[in-house]
Amino acid sequence: MKPLAHRTEELRQSDIRAVSQMVSAIDGINLGQGICDLPTPKALRESAMDAVDRSLATYSHYAGIEPLRDFILSKARSYNNIPVKSIDDIVVGAGSTGAFATAILAILDPGDEVIVFEPFYGYHVNLVKAVGAKVVTVPQQVPDWTVDFDKVEAAVTERTKAIVVTTPGNPNGKVWTRAELSDVLEIADRHDLRIITDEIYEYIVYDDHQHVSAASLPGGYERTITISGFSKTYNMTGWRLGYSISPAEVAEKMGLLNDLFYICAPTPLQHGVAAAAELSDTYYNEMRADYSDKRRLMCEALETAGFDVAWPDGAYYVLADIRPLAERLSGFEDDRTACRTLIQRCGIGSVSGSSFFSNQEVGSRYLRFCFAKEIDELETACGRLRDTFGS
Ligand code: PLP
Repeated sequence: MKPLAHRTEELRQSDIRAVSQMVSAIDGINLGQGICDLPTPKALRESAMDAVDRSLATYSHYAGIEPLRDFILSKARSYNNIPVKSIDDIVVGAGSTGAFATAILAILDPGDEVIVFEPFYGYHVNLVKAVGAKVVTVPQQVPDWTVDFDKVEAAVTERTKAIVVTTPGNPNGKVWTRAELSDVLEIADRHDLRIITDEIYEYIVYDDHQHVSAASLPGGYERTITISGFSKTYNMTGWRLGYSISPAEVAEKMGLLNDLFYICAPTPLQHGVAAAAELSDTYYNEMRADYSDKRRLMCEALETAGFDVAWPDGAYYVLADIRPLAERLSGFEDDRTACRTLIQRCGIGSVSGSSFFSNQEVGSRYLRFCFAKEIDELETACGRLRDTFGS
């Protein structure tokens, strides 16, 4: 038989799933996969059930139902300060992952290049590769994940089409400042590039950090495809609803690609999430406060256990450096060994840092922990880390 397409050659089941299987086999606690197991807000669940009861079960417009796009429009204008012109600029898709896939399909040809900051979210890298384009990484520098913009400038070639910015970032929790985004925009302007942002954690920022959207900067709207979704804000990773905001001529092509691949996002669930328009600021403030407490619990436990921890400024992950543990214990020689040691010695799942780096030497220093967990389970996990490894 003739071989499968080249684009499938590098595709493998990620380590994250393998770790999940190992952890569930011993009934451990999985702080690996970024699955948030907190409840979906009641108003959204009820609204989805009502849509099912009323048989709102047909295909929707490929760009999504109007009430949901209206909600996204007003949220983008008020929360993100993005000058969205109309709902024609908005496409609802199958998660922000679906939105990212249609964005790159709309703008990239095989051989084009995309700049991605490292540590990166693996789906961005693998999706860009899957469409036959090339990923060029630029490091975010430890300890505070700053970016050397001369390196960004140096990474641009004739074939560069886009720069991807994830803010707040997964796995490092970096919240990009207005000044940094302005630097990205300046480079994009100079070389006529697009910016694709992934803002899925936009409501989860800590201390005095502010979420800023590149599309809200002067001149940013025309260059940017803003991607976000509902998975993390409303604890509904399995609903598969996300969206993009971009100038209408880009949105139209992305919508048509959406149509081609799966026609539309699930209609009753779109009605469900449109009820988020009824949630007050209290919902978002409480969510932030809750994650802020969990961040403290997680980071302090990891520090007591002996990790070197760069506290995240946003999102709900911590990237912890294993090297101080390696100095006094065996089983921490590199990230994969450390990940297995944690499962075996205290039943805690994490993710090997090398999944987030092209530079494996740097990646092998880290484990990523996700703290989007019910508090009882998180406290148990943190207690085990402190008791097993604390000196
Ligand atoms: N983008 C980032 C940075 C993520 O961390 C994740 C999930 O972990 C996603 C996107 C996936 O989002 P969605 O469920 O909307 O596809």
